[in-house]
Amino acid sequence: MITGLFINGEFKDCKEKQNIINPSTGKVMAQVSVASLKDVDLAIASARLAFDKGEWPRLPFDERKSFILKISQGILDKAGELANLETLNTGKPIKESTFMDIPSSAKTFEHIANNFQRHLFEENPQVQAEAQCRLVREPMGEVVLIVPWNYPLLIASWKLASALAAGNTVILKPSSLTPLTAFELGSIVNEAGLPKGAVNIINGSGPKLGEALCVDKRVGMISFTGSNEVGSQVIGYTSKYPKKMIMELGGKSASIVLKDADLEVAVNSSLCSIFLNQGQMCTAMSRIFVQEEIYDKFLSDFSEKAKRIKLGRGSDYETQMGPLISDAQRKKVIAHIEKAKKEGAKLVCGGRIPDNPSLKNGFFFEPTVLTGIKLNMEIFKEEVFGPVVCIGKFSSLNEAVELANNSDFGLAATIWTKDTTLAEDLAKRINAGTVWVNTYGMFYNETPYGGFKQSGFGKELGKEGFLEYTRLKNIAVDNSKDSKPLINYWYGF
Ligand code: NAD
Repeated sequence: MITGLFINGEFKDCKEKQNIINPSTGKVMAQVSVASLKDVDLAIASARLAFDKGEWPRLPFDERKSFILKISQGILDKAGELANLETLNTGKPIKESTFMDIPSSAKTFEHIANNFQRHLFEENPQVQAEAQCRLVREPMGEVVLIVPWNYPLLIASWKLASALAAGNTVILKPSSLTPLTAFELGSIVNEAGLPKGAVNIINGSGPKLGEALCVDKRVGMISFTGSNEVGSQVIGYTSKYPKKMIMELGGKSASIVLKDADLEVAVNSSLCSIFLNQGQMCTAMSRIFVQEEIYDKFLSDFSEKAKRIKLGRGSDYETQMGPLISDAQRKKVIAHIEKAKKEGAKLVCGGRIPDNPSLKNGFFFEPTVLTGIKLNMEIFKEEVFGPVVCIGKFSSLNEAVELANNSDFGLAATIWTKDTTLAEDLAKRINAGTVWVNTYGMFYNETPYGGFKQSGFGKELGKEGFLEYTRLKNIAVDNSKDSKPLINYWYGF
């Protein structure tokens, strides 16, 4: 297991160390290096030098592509090891890391390397003058990638693949709770033979390192995924030296279940849409609205099945739901539920730490269903980031849209119905960056993903996500016969 920082193509062991906890057992599973402010400076200098003087941004795309494909293959070669590590570090069921996080990470590198070169082509727009303009896509420069703990390798891969393919050099800062697969990614990058300094990976306190990275004027762009609280701080850090930013923030996503939906499919998929990864998903459908005709049946089927979800250690293949990431996160979840109950919400199931003695040292929590939610309750408005769902009913379609849109966030939504024409109409009326119809959680490398309103700005994935990591230059050549008389002789000389 790699436990050191990755700066300028070398792994560095630091004096200061930090414990990494396995949330399934509450026990220390590793000790990793913690970067000092000097290390942050070294990483910034290394990425800057690699961009300004190094070969990475100047390589023809085809050559960069071959390196990025090697990263993809490197992830696949170590897939089992990476899946185990991700599960031990995050607690997520091994089935999820094996079949979702790790292969999807490899696929993103592969897809971007193979398909996005054409988006870097120049354009030659016609202008109404005797001039020729060329629009050129260039890399942003040195990019800081800050990622959360819920999908450590996957979100790092979304950002890293696009940033590298576009020719940027990067500093990746994983969450200090889950840096292990990021360090492994450093080793994969190294084995792929990327030039020194193209990728740097540092670990440590979010506020200390994050601020140092974000205020620095050598950094050209910040791609941040995390909470709204920290996202606002990051925006604040850039006030002195403004930078391009992508902000992927929180959510309070809504699912609308229409009376004609295939009930079994809607119930089963809705369980996934809130309880996968222990509900620690930015796109978790934490508000489910069901048409009144089928509400009672939906609620009873959903809660019966929620009670049957098998909790266990992440590393056990039988486990359907692992522990939350930390005791602090579990306390936050419990506080949200207690507040909701005080405000009048009804607990249908869950809401407890399981009493199974074999789980007592981990940060487990039961899948929780709440009803009787009012629009002014905190649980209706705020992101819980845990296995807690509010289920409510609606009568008319207008009411469903109003309920779904009644949120400061706008990350994603889901619609369940057999009437796909109606679903498309509803989808257009919902204020969210992604609307899934009769499915949940499908992220495609070909299409962009990102939130509206307080869920942030900028896109990941797709052509649009890739182009975020570029800047557009206009090269204008004046072809008029005597060049431009107005400008050339403005002062009459
Ligand atoms: P967080 O905001 O606490 O941390 C995110 C990252 O920021 C971590 O790497 C952390 O170390 C770093 N950080 C902390 N303080 C910082 C500071 N002052 N300056 C710079 N960086 C700092 O978020 P989290 O708890 O790791 O993740 C959960 C949150 O992420 C949820 O709100 C969730 O909705 C959001 N999220 C959003 C998306 C999306 O695509 N929109 C995806 C996943 C998670």
